[in-house]
Amino acid sequence: MKTGNDIVIIGGGLMGLSISIELQLRGANVTLLSRNFQEAAAHAAAGMLAPQAEGIQDPEFLKLALGSRALYQDWANKLEAIAGLDPGYWPCGILAPVYQRPESTVGSESPETPAYWCDRNTLDQRQPDLGPEVVGAWWFPQDAQVDNRRGLARTLKVAAQKLGVNLREGVEVQRLETQSLEAQTLKPQNSQGQPFEPENSAIHPAMIIKVHTNQGTVTGAHYILATGAWSAQILPTIPVYPVKGQMLSVRVPPSPEPLPLKQVLFGSEAYIVPRRDGLIVIGATVEPHSFDPGLTPAGLQSLLSKAIRLYPALQDFPIQDFWWGFRPTTPDQFPILGGSPFKNLTLAVGHHRNGILLAPMTAQLIADWVLEQKADPLLRQFSWHRFSMG
Ligand SMILES: Cc1cc2nc3c(=O)[nH]c(=O)nc-3n(C[C@H](O)[C@H](O)[C@H](O)COP(=O)(O)OP(=O)(O)OC[C@H]3O[C@@H](n4cnc5c(N)ncnc54)[C@H](O)[C@@H]3O)c2cc1C
Repeated sequence: MKTGNDIVIIGGGLMGLSISIELQLRGANVTLLSRNFQEAAAHAAAGMLAPQAEGIQDPEFLKLALGSRALYQDWANKLEAIAGLDPGYWPCGILAPVYQRPESTVGSESPETPAYWCDRNTLDQRQPDLGPEVVGAWWFPQDAQVDNRRGLARTLKVAAQKLGVNLREGVEVQRLETQSLEAQTLKPQNSQGQPFEPENSAIHPAMIIKVHTNQGTVTGAHYILATGAWSAQILPTIPVYPVKGQMLSVRVPPSPEPLPLKQVLFGSEAYIVPRRDGLIVIGATVEPHSFDPGLTPAGLQSLLSKAIRLYPALQDFPIQDFWWGFRPTTPDQFPILGGSPFKNLTLAVGHHRNGILLAPMTAQLIADWVLEQKADPLLRQFSWHRFSMG
């Protein structure tokens, strides 16, 4: 799958931008087609980097998630150096308060996944003023956060532009034009100009020859689909669907006191993500198969009451903003990475509720795959084939 240098990425959200930067840094010539940067879930997310607080059980997915968390600090530094902007990475740790004492409170001293149980007394030292029903919390010091809305998304866009990615905003891909590899004109040739059978012709009977957009056609040697929750609109065989989330933010009132929250609170019903400047992000509703735009009174009411139950002081903090977004979700809730039904199309979709966390690892794995044909074992785990087997 040696591709030449001209790579077309469809979708300029978190994955499209992260991958474009990695490819461009490795010498590729990337065009990125983006319908609407603002609609990307990259802007909607809370920015938690939370493989432990999320309670990920699947060993392969946990490997992917922990690997990506481990890359974050260096990745953020690299982006900051390229863009000259702060992506807002904050290794603040995550507290996961609970309302019922767990059966086991044995934690972990593993350097990769430390986890400590805090009973209510210990918890009060670390985080005062939690709701009276909280009985204790898990403390995950290695989990972190990034200010995706004000930091990361803009930093990625500026970094891609500075590196020379041909970023075409407002370009909507409407259709992929494909051609069977049987067609004589597309048969690859050997060095003597003789046609030969491609190695994977059985599983790649076709390839993309161009994409049709609202602004004409675009061609490349290789294509990458990174269209988030909208991916099935372009490639219906890929089972990605939207899971809408409503969110809001409040601000700690100005006071001479230090900020009251210094780590993320990952509750069982809602999460509260304090930024370093006093903004607090609260999320999120979970509404499968909904592309309905906008907010609902029921959604916001439920979010607010769950967040106030966790941290009652919030009820007096002035509201700053409301928004919503669409998580790109697959039936098993794991991403689809790597090859596709088409020989020259790579997939980077379906990151569901962990796409901010998974961005650095996804960019690395996809660049290895596209430019060097390096198929990390993780790519096999998250291949589209798991859905094509019937
Ligand atoms: C409410 C909410 C909270 C979240 N919280 C977290 C969190 O705390 N931590 C975490 O790790 N993850 C979180 N996520 C998940 C994360 O935001 C997503 O997994 C991630 O943004 C997916 O990136 P993406 O590039 O695949 O999709 P997106 O970021 O959505 O980007 C897709 C882009 O593709 C473009 N596009 C679509 N169709 C076309 C087309 N036909 N032609 C051209 N362009 C097209 C769109 O315009 C869009 O810009 C959250 C998501 C939501 C919605």
